[in-house]
Amino acid sequence: MVALHTYTAGEAGLFVNSYLLETESGVVVVDTNLLNADIDALKARVAAVGKPLEAVFVTHAHPDHFNGVFELIRQAPEVPVYATVGVAKTIREIADAKRAKWSPVYGDQWPAQTAYPTVELSDGQTVVLDGLVITARELGAAESHADSYLLAAADGARPVAFIGDVAFHGTHPYTADGHSASWLSALDTVTKELGDIPRLYAGHGAPTGPEIFAEQRRYLVFYRETVRRLADGAPELTEAAKTELERELTRFLPETPLTWMIQLGADAVAAELHGDGGA
Ligand SMILES: [Zn+2]
Repeated sequence: MVALHTYTAGEAGLFVNSYLLETESGVVVVDTNLLNADIDALKARVAAVGKPLEAVFVTHAHPDHFNGVFELIRQAPEVPVYATVGVAKTIREIADAKRAKWSPVYGDQWPAQTAYPTVELSDGQTVVLDGLVITARELGAAESHADSYLLAAADGARPVAFIGDVAFHGTHPYTADGHSASWLSALDTVTKELGDIPRLYAGHGAPTGPEIFAEQRRYLVFYRETVRRLADGAPELTEAAKTELERELTRFLPETPLTWMIQLGADAVAAELHGDGGA
């Protein structure tokens, strides 16, 4: 890898990161942003490298990571779009429903079309692109219905990891897919597998190290147990309980943006905890 560039959205675009891995002869993009304004800026950032787009990877099945694929490859449909089998399947299942849900909120900033992964990677499968060796690891349901991480290494250099949203760095996380238990299991997995990778690139927030996994665990444990207490046995929270949840979580993680995510995930996690019999 010659260089690693990052395009980061502002608050409206959830601070999502798209990574541009510049090789000798091209650019590989990992994750593609949410809203048209950011996707256009990402496209400009790719063009500014001055090398052709070689491949796109999508780390997990959420629109802030796959929404920009269509526009990025619109003039180059031969560019392969990689995702793990689980991530690709879930994107096909949810993309239309996500557009129906969020287009009324975001209007014409929500892309009108979706481009789906064209190359599905099995767990542990490696792709070699211009000397860059990228290995995909399927994690199953965690922050989304299907998560993965990517390890990237160039010519014997120390690998770096693109961890998608398995851990958020510096924002409140999205919990609304209701998989907090399997998310905690995925954190066990990445702690074991990526614990000696010093440089991790998260889907949201600045580059970090493996300590981010312990921080995400701490947040999820507090979030889950606060939801459990406020739900008091019910599969959902009252409006008053949601307000209290937001108060608790903003106290837990003060001065941190995307606070609207706190209430967004409340009912999904309450339903999850209700379904697991209080384990
Ligand atoms: Zn995200």
